[in-house]
Amino acid sequence: MIGFGMTEEQEQLRDLAHQFAENEIRPVSAHHDKTGEYPWEVIRKAHDLGIMNTHIPEKWGGMGLGCVDGAIISEELAWGCTGIGTALEANGLALQPVLEGASDHLLDKYVRPMTEEPKMAAYAVTEPGAGSDVAGMRSTAVKKGDKYILNGNKMWITNAAVADWFFVVAYTDKEAKYRGMTGFLVEREWAGIEVGKKEKNMGQRCSDTRAITFTDVEIPEENVVGQVGAGWGLAMGAFDHTRPLVAAAAVGLARAAFDHASEYAMQRKTMGRPIASHQAIAFMLAEMARDIEAGRLLVHKAAWLKDQGQRNTMYASMAKAFAADSAHRIASDAVQIFGGYGFNEEYPVEKLLRDSKIFQIYEGTSQIQRMIIAKELFQRGR
Ligand SMILES: Cc1cc2nc3c(=O)[nH]c(=O)nc-3n(C[C@H](O)[C@H](O)[C@H](O)COP(=O)(O)OP(=O)(O)OC[C@H]3O[C@@H](n4cnc5c(N)ncnc54)[C@H](O)[C@@H]3O)c2cc1C
Repeated sequence: MIGFGMTEEQEQLRDLAHQFAENEIRPVSAHHDKTGEYPWEVIRKAHDLGIMNTHIPEKWGGMGLGCVDGAIISEELAWGCTGIGTALEANGLALQPVLEGASDHLLDKYVRPMTEEPKMAAYAVTEPGAGSDVAGMRSTAVKKGDKYILNGNKMWITNAAVADWFFVVAYTDKEAKYRGMTGFLVEREWAGIEVGKKEKNMGQRCSDTRAITFTDVEIPEENVVGQVGAGWGLAMGAFDHTRPLVAAAAVGLARAAFDHASEYAMQRKTMGRPIASHQAIAFMLAEMARDIEAGRLLVHKAAWLKDQGQRNTMYASMAKAFAADSAHRIASDAVQIFGGYGFNEEYPVEKLLRDSKIFQIYEGTSQIQRMIIAKELFQRGR
């Protein structure tokens, strides 16, 4: 049976997230874009409302919602603002490998409190010299008695300054390559950790992105996430859950761009008629609407497969690449439809174009998504 509808609960979730985006995110979005101020007040309200960390299982105090549910929420929040949306949703990426691999003790100690208070976490894998090439990382964690000593530099870490803990991947055995990486849960306040300056990014400016330096940081053995040597699998496996959500956010941004562009195209007149009635503009809007629909379908399929416990890696990459590339093109077309006004910061689409670019870069670039799709197609023998 094929179904395209939402359950009653999912419709309620969508409406709740949409109202939140409309009433709490949109009104402060321009302010946070201009100042780069971290949106703590929005995070507190979202936490109170129960639309953060929704996939934490009930056993650890969470709601235990699925990936489709998360995608529905993510799209609506992103329709409000993807800078604020990224700040709100980045916990998901840090949490995912921990939920997959960590001991009950770690889950109780670090994950449960996130359901009680608006606490943040960060996923620290990328390094200055290793983004797409994760295996090129240099960070090491050397066993010394019942501790690991962590040294290395991480780069572009979302929520680095506001996180209570980081999920960090480092080599425990460089010779073993992919099987020599281990995941650790590292508290931000531990000695030897230095969080860098806030990076000034092109878009999503209120999302906190920084470098982190680890110098002889002592990690208790119990803070190993999963097995020693399982870090690569945990870090990459997390994307099966989070890429559909990031793709959903790209769909949300595209929807916002379409809403602004179509409204403007109905009002703005040239040559005696609304520009929406010029075929060149109407076709741009038609393509936007088409790709928003197609993107959402890919997102929901990838998320649904994840909820069914089926392998969804290829679909997660298809959704991420398609929705990211579409969002960037749709935002650019929205600027085009606004003409000169689109190029100006007094109008909303300029910010959307800046914000859209990152979807083609973080959580794996659009080129890397294509490599994953090709690998899944040809090496796994589909
Ligand atoms: C705002 C922001 C937030 C981020 N948040 C996080 C975070 O929270 N945690 C985290 O760990 N990381 C985070 N990242 C890092 C992000 O995931 C990486 O920037 C991304 O994976 C690309 O890595 P890179 O920047 O090193 O580029 P590179 O890997 O150097 O790539 C440069 C270019 O080469 C292309 N390329 C690379 N290899 C290949 C190949 N084999 N074939 C074809 N093309 C290739 C890429 O697609 C890209 O176009 C964030 C980045 C940004 C900008």
